[in-house]
Amino acid sequence: MTEKSEELDDYLDNHYIHRSNLLRAAVLGANDGILSTASIAIGVAAASDFREPVILATLAGLVAGALSMAAGEYVSVSSQTDVEHADIEREKQELDEMPELELQRLAEIYEKRGLKKETALTVAREMTEHDALGAHVRDELGINEISQAKPMQAAFASGAAFTVGGLLPFLVTLFLPLKTMEFSLYGFAIIFLIILGALAAKTGGSSIGKAIMRITFWGTVAMGLTALVGYMFNVNVG
Ligand SMILES: [Zn+2]
Repeated sequence: MTEKSEELDDYLDNHYIHRSNLLRAAVLGANDGILSTASIAIGVAAASDFREPVILATLAGLVAGALSMAAGEYVSVSSQTDVEHADIEREKQELDEMPELELQRLAEIYEKRGLKKETALTVAREMTEHDALGAHVRDELGINEISQAKPMQAAFASGAAFTVGGLLPFLVTLFLPLKTMEFSLYGFAIIFLIILGALAAKTGGSSIGKAIMRITFWGTVAMGLTALVGYMFNVNVG
């Protein structure tokens, strides 16, 4: 590896975009884990006077949520990968069948990016000689290594993040007093969500204040409505 390409790798590593796919999946997963598991726990705690049903429902919600999150992410990222592969195959075909037209198309892209017509054509020629498919995939289709989807990685990141997020409310159902369980669950869940929201905003370079407001508002709505349903069905179970 030359010094120049090492420098480029460092430069890319320092950019937010490089962490975006993984971060996005992890934060969404953890958020979901905290919010949906805490909401289930709050709903059952509001409806029951016993700890066992709360623990059981929370654990079932945690496992089901983690698996469906991972499966959902795998399916959605795989279909994105399929689309990318189909595009690359068609690009290969177009390069075989009409290389001149493809060269013009590439030159036009560089021209649109600000190069003079002659310079654009020269660059397009040199890029084509060096790696025609690579140049078209990157500059025409906009697919690059950084943004390329990795289904297994995304599925694992989401499932693991959901599990970590869901474990927090689950621990609350195991150890905190039953009498005030709904309030403890709500309190801890909001604290965890705020920490996560702030972390994600900081890492992603966006406004921390806005992120905290958004997550607190929607977290309160979700848990509040579930508690309401639980109180409406306040039956003695267990
Ligand atoms: Zn092309």
